[in-house]
Amino acid sequence: MRKLVIAIDGFSSSGKSTMARALAKEIGYIYVDSGAMYRAVTLYALRNGMVMPDGSLDTQALVAALPNVNVSFAPAGADGVQHTLLNGEDVEKEIREMRVSEMVSPVAVIPEVRHRLVALQQEFGREKGIVMDGRDIGTTVFPRAEMKVFVNASAEERARRRFKELQDKGVKADYDEVYANICERDHIDSTRKESPLRKAEDAVELDNDNMTPAEQMKWLHDLYIKIASAE
Ligand code: C5P
Repeated sequence: MRKLVIAIDGFSSSGKSTMARALAKEIGYIYVDSGAMYRAVTLYALRNGMVMPDGSLDTQALVAALPNVNVSFAPAGADGVQHTLLNGEDVEKEIREMRVSEMVSPVAVIPEVRHRLVALQQEFGREKGIVMDGRDIGTTVFPRAEMKVFVNASAEERARRRFKELQDKGVKADYDEVYANICERDHIDSTRKESPLRKAEDAVELDNDNMTPAEQMKWLHDLYIKIASAE
């Protein structure tokens, strides 16, 4: 079997992280949640007074502080989930809060933030054997990835999933707020200038609105076998 770089892109809460993580575990690859990295930088901005009371962002201050922002991952622990670290501190739970979700797309628009995180992501993938999910993995981070998937589902279905996920994690949330945030992020992510969310030409599309998690996993695993065993 060839060792691959696997890029899984798609809209917010399309289920791509769950699929990507499960596939990586099954085939013994590293998994990297690139969205968590943008969330960690956003948390840094929130904690350091770079988000104004009116919701605007002090971009200059954040760009100047970027050399002090280190994002890394702790290996999966007993819960099987890889934890995101911000300057060494485990922030896995905090980065999923709504206040972070509300600011992450404006932060992800900043070219300097993207350049720094993309360079780190490319470093993670140097040895291949990696599954990374995000918005621009197949287009910008790994344009030559051997396997690219673009996942989509309706905004309503995605909001339902995100709401349930937050509830299961014990994070307080309101469905309408979650739905509005998903639509807002779809818009910002797909219209930004720097590497907007779009399907790479050579990505295989998966519309998972009416698929069970087991069906999605089978689809993904079959695709992996087909590509990894090809000459
Ligand atoms: O995947 P998740 O929903 O956690 O990502 C949070 C946000 O981070 C996205 O809405 C998007 O604005 C940004 N992001 C990005 N590029 C990536 C991954 C995430 O711009 N590769």
